[in-house]
Amino acid sequence: MAKTYYDQDVNWSVLEGKTVAIIGYGSQGHAHALNLKESGVNVVVGLYAGSKSKAKAEAHGLKVATVAEAVKQADITMVLIPDEKQADVYKEEIGPNLKKGSALAFAHGFNIHFKQIVPPEGVDVFMVAPKGPGHLVRRTFTEGSGVPAVFAVEKDETGKCFEIALAYARGVGSTRSGVLQTTFRDETEEDLFGEQCVLMGGVCQLMQTGFEVLVEAGYPPEMAYFECFHEMKLIVDLCYEGGMTKMRQSCSDTAEYGDYMIGPRIITEETKKEMKKVLKEIQDGTFARNWLLENRAAGRANFLAQRRLHKEHQIEQVGAQLRNMMPWLRDKKELEF
Ligand code: NDP
Ligand code: MG
Ligand code: MG
Repeated sequence: MAKTYYDQDVNWSVLEGKTVAIIGYGSQGHAHALNLKESGVNVVVGLYAGSKSKAKAEAHGLKVATVAEAVKQADITMVLIPDEKQADVYKEEIGPNLKKGSALAFAHGFNIHFKQIVPPEGVDVFMVAPKGPGHLVRRTFTEGSGVPAVFAVEKDETGKCFEIALAYARGVGSTRSGVLQTTFRDETEEDLFGEQCVLMGGVCQLMQTGFEVLVEAGYPPEMAYFECFHEMKLIVDLCYEGGMTKMRQSCSDTAEYGDYMIGPRIITEETKKEMKKVLKEIQDGTFARNWLLENRAAGRANFLAQRRLHKEHQIEQVGAQLRNMMPWLRDKKELEF
């Protein structure tokens, strides 16, 4: 098993007196900025003129500057804007202002691994990627724990990059739960594979297809929603707490028998073969190229059309109505941080 690092493995002094620029104040940005500040680090948030996030960051008591100004002051620049925007912002505002001997950091390896960003000599490059969405990184920190993370050192020019990365991980709360060392390559490829084949692509398509089969067979959409979508949380929570074993203990033997007999007919050898193909396309850069082209040449036409089509799907319409009937979900409709 990969070595896990905790609070006691951290040399916190490498961050003392240092300034961290957090570029972007979205999901990860707000969590990193606030957690680091409360850990005693000097934080400045870098945003563009007219950014919607500026007022939020200031209301949270943070210093805000332009991206260029924030980078100029920084000993560590953590890039937390959307991956597809990072290369342009790097070229215009981050790269030209990086101090020699400072560090450039990421929460995902995409732009470094696929060479969209090539940092200059004399600058350390590391990653700290919490294994959870930003609001959880923030909430767990305020509760005294933290979201586990992976970290990686891509370029150690100062001889201190490993220690700095670990200290950063402590600053955001992750060494409270443990952090694992990885590489930019592994993190990038695994992350893309996970979200495409399992967490989003796989799970969303599975729930939607199950829903469609029931509705097309004449069952009420509301029932189909409960069976194929709503109950997913129950199952996932149990798996999360105690593995599939705990989940299966909690379900009926009938359900468990069906799980073993039918599961392999749904996710088949064919599916596994396709997953391997997807992994290859991630490794050989096909996916990265398509996504970068989608952002550059096509004005995201395909992406935006897909977003609209999925939003309009019956499962989303029925779901919205049903969730309105559940008072405990009513104030959770929109992402907030
Ligand atoms: P978000 O989409 O939440 O980031 C949006 C923020 O970036 C907003 O504050 C936005 O400002 C700002 N922004 C957008 N464009 C610019 C610009 N040109 N200059 C300055 N600021 C800009 O990003 P995420 O937090 O989702 O992702 C950040 C990184 O973290 C990515 O590398 C991602 O892969 C990684 N990551 C994300 C996870 C997650 O749970 N979301 C989990 C682990 C890693 P405004 O609102 O004003 O437009
Ligand atoms: Mg991802
Ligand atoms: Mg049932």
